[in-house]
Amino acid sequence: MQTVLVAGGAGFIGSHLCRELLKENFRVICLDNLITGEKENIKDFLTNNNFSFKEVDITKDFFLEEKIHYIFDLASPASPNAKSSRSYIAFPIETLLVNSIGTYNLLRIAKENKAKFLYVSSSEIYGDPEVNPQPETYHGYVNPNGIRSVYDEGKRFGESMTMAFFRKYNLDIRIIRIFNTFGPIMRADDGRVVSNFINQALKNEPLTIYGTGKQTRSFCYIDDMVLGLKKAMFSENSNGEVFNLGNPDERTVQEMAKLIKELTNSESKIEFESLPEDDPKIRKPDIGKAKRLLNWEPKVSIEMGIEKTIQYFKKL
Ligand code: UDP
Repeated sequence: MQTVLVAGGAGFIGSHLCRELLKENFRVICLDNLITGEKENIKDFLTNNNFSFKEVDITKDFFLEEKIHYIFDLASPASPNAKSSRSYIAFPIETLLVNSIGTYNLLRIAKENKAKFLYVSSSEIYGDPEVNPQPETYHGYVNPNGIRSVYDEGKRFGESMTMAFFRKYNLDIRIIRIFNTFGPIMRADDGRVVSNFINQALKNEPLTIYGTGKQTRSFCYIDDMVLGLKKAMFSENSNGEVFNLGNPDERTVQEMAKLIKELTNSESKIEFESLPEDDPKIRKPDIGKAKRLLNWEPKVSIEMGIEKTIQYFKKL
């Protein structure tokens, strides 16, 4: 049996990934310090003999007794919303350290075990992009010390460290830049646009649009994202490569508000609030490379994904 380490495995994307890996009969070791992840997300697997959960901070010393074959590094706060106590703005130092020292520690484990390594980076490394869509070859336009820089520069450092291990030690690595992803298990208090709008709409509270709402994002449903992450890890031709993963269906925040109001049959009004500092104006992945090399592209429409996410939040 092959063993997979999932760092950040109790988070939104990490816990979905753990579930899919267990279905495929991998042994899964989940590491999480639970500052933004939740034990609730993995409670269904705790009785599975192929699953172990270790509450550790990967920036500190920790021990693994078993041989590891694959490492997914998803450990990081990821929400930019300063109003949320779970955002990377609330954990600025932790965010920088987990993407630097934490990633370094995982890379060393990968080297010792000759394990394949996947670093989860972000569309945030493109900052407030000047080209649309963003191909992997675009180097980005990032404020190096603005409020979002702890995440943007953290992810840029993590990419650089991952490539250093590839170049210096020939480690088998790939870097994935995740674009906005949504779906069940997202935290209601995350502060993300999709979770905020759905929860506001279900309570008939005003939908809070930051800025004019003309800024765009491209939203990918969680099932598509998890499949992309698995393909990137297990495909033969991904070693040393960087891939954008996301859904190129670009929408304005206003369009998302309208769609979520319609799909929830909500009476909510729209309220405009100030735009957070350095909030990117546009974002859309160029996924040509993932299509070509990984034979991957999203299959779930935004409408279908939002519908499933509404059902999830209704049940909470
Ligand atoms: N946003 C908004 N209302 C909210 C939450 C977010 O208008 O209640 C905007 C936010 O300013 C950004 C976009 O929606 O322009 C996406 O924000 P999110 O936090 O989901 O992710 P980001 O893509 O900024 O990392």
